[in-house]
Amino acid sequence: MRKPLLPLVFLAALLLVAGAYALGALRARADLLEQGRRQLELMAPDLQSAMDKYETLPFVLGFQPDLAEAIAHPADAAVIARLNRTLQTIQRQSQVGAIYLMDRSGLTLGSSNWDQPTSFVGKNFSYRPYFSEAQRGRPGLFYGIGTATAEAGYFIAQPVYRDSTDGGPVAGVVAVKISLAEFEQTWRSSEHTIALADRHGVVFLSNQPDWRYRSLRPLDATAQQELAQTQQYTGRQVASLPQPLPEYAVRPVGKLGWQLMLFPSQVRVQRAALLWAAGTALLLACGGALWWALHQRRRRLEEQRESRAALRQAALELEQRIAERTAQLQTTNSDLESKYVKLQQTEHMLRTTQNQLVQAGKLAMLGQMAAGITHELNQPLAAIRAFADNARVFLERGRPEQADANLGHISDASARMGAIISQLKGFARKDEAITQVNLARSVQASALLVDNDFKRQGVTLETGDLTGSEITVAGDAVRIEQVLINLLRNALDAVAGMEETHPRTVTVTLEKAERWAEVRISDTGPGIPEQVAAHLFEPFYTTKPSGQGLGLGLAISSSIVQAMNGQLTAHNLPGPAGGAQFVLRLPLQATEP
Ligand code: ADP
Repeated sequence: MRKPLLPLVFLAALLLVAGAYALGALRARADLLEQGRRQLELMAPDLQSAMDKYETLPFVLGFQPDLAEAIAHPADAAVIARLNRTLQTIQRQSQVGAIYLMDRSGLTLGSSNWDQPTSFVGKNFSYRPYFSEAQRGRPGLFYGIGTATAEAGYFIAQPVYRDSTDGGPVAGVVAVKISLAEFEQTWRSSEHTIALADRHGVVFLSNQPDWRYRSLRPLDATAQQELAQTQQYTGRQVASLPQPLPEYAVRPVGKLGWQLMLFPSQVRVQRAALLWAAGTALLLACGGALWWALHQRRRRLEEQRESRAALRQAALELEQRIAERTAQLQTTNSDLESKYVKLQQTEHMLRTTQNQLVQAGKLAMLGQMAAGITHELNQPLAAIRAFADNARVFLERGRPEQADANLGHISDASARMGAIISQLKGFARKDEAITQVNLARSVQASALLVDNDFKRQGVTLETGDLTGSEITVAGDAVRIEQVLINLLRNALDAVAGMEETHPRTVTVTLEKAERWAEVRISDTGPGIPEQVAAHLFEPFYTTKPSGQGLGLGLAISSSIVQAMNGQLTAHNLPGPAGGAQFVLRLPLQATEP
């Protein structure tokens, strides 16, 4: 159910229950009223007959000689005593409340209760309506509270004639008082309120004690006056019952305009109403529960149907997604394939470009070298031609010793050219013999080859203890030694040029650093000036005087090292003795641990 409807449904249910309550109350009240009416039909005759039963009693008593006697001789104590006894006997026999005789003035001459403290004897009841009625020769009927006894009762009075046979003037009044309390007693068992009211509407009998002597509606002035006059309720202040009165059943009873009433029990009405309300609530609850169960069932079915549909949908979507993904993958795959082809093409292009570049680099180098070589070789060549020309002139002039000297010079110059060319061979050699090279052994071999030169220049060569150092690299042992010798010779040259007092040492160390084998050649020479460092590895760059250096050593060494996938770098050492340090890095043998 949708949420906003819920309060509405509750409200409707509440209204229904309330309606059922009201309807129940209405129905119960109507039923009870009907029942009450029937009950009153049964009760009224009882009451009526109880009052009627005694109506003739005072009339019959009027014929009693004792009564006439007493009226004739009211001062005769014996007569009065006899009267009292007679009245007492009859009262006991007939079971009425009291029987008493009054004279014409209303003064009580004798009474059945003469021997009681509440005796009527000597009391005057002329103010009571029953007395005045009887005095006028009519039977007097009255209900009221006794002024002597303070007990309520129904009074029936009849005139007494001096001569009971022919009538004549009324000589006295005989009255009978009947108690109606026993009716009240029987009503007690009823759960409804039963009340008997006089013609003014004053309740004088009721099974609810607090209803007694209260009026059904506020009393008007004449009624109040009358009540005061007759002392019907011995001057009690008669208050009205709480207004408005609930609905009640009513029936007239007696000859005095009385009303017998039955007010249905509110508790019964409420109980019936509650029963209706509860029944309705139960019915609604059952209905609600049934609706809920059906609703739940319908919803479950709906949910099942929905979830089945959702599952079908999901399966469909999945299939579609798989198809889409497959298509995507296929395109991606073909994309990748074409990319791969392109990559291969690009790689091929790069390689070609690289080769071309290398070739170009080589050509550039070759150009540079050609220039250098031309320059280097031109000098001795020019010298040779000059010496040869002069030698020919000397021979023509017959001076062979001078021609011989010139030939000696030619020989020197050509030797020098040979040295240059032999150095150039280092570039040309291509076929390297790559083997496993023990670097320590190469260092030792190189040191041994330059040892004499060092000794001659008074320079110490320190190689430390290299025995047992197992550092193996892949390369050409001869070429590695060529590089080492070149580096050692440069270091020696640098240190040799220093003053005698300066430390004169060249140190070689060998160690492993990550994947490299490192050879460091440090000297105590002047170090490499900044402007030299920029051209260090260029061919034909030298600071040495002509004839001493060609400037090819480091260029050749660098190309050798690069061919073995190694590095050759140089830097200056700090400190006062610090000269240059050349670092030769060669990749360690992969099998090396
Ligand atoms: P060459 O030794 O024939 O001059 P190299 O290529 O071997 O040619 O060296 C180039 C230059 O590098 C040298 O002339 C020198 O100025 C400088 N050089 C090389 N080694 C050292 C060194 N250990 N200390 C200082 N300068 C050096």
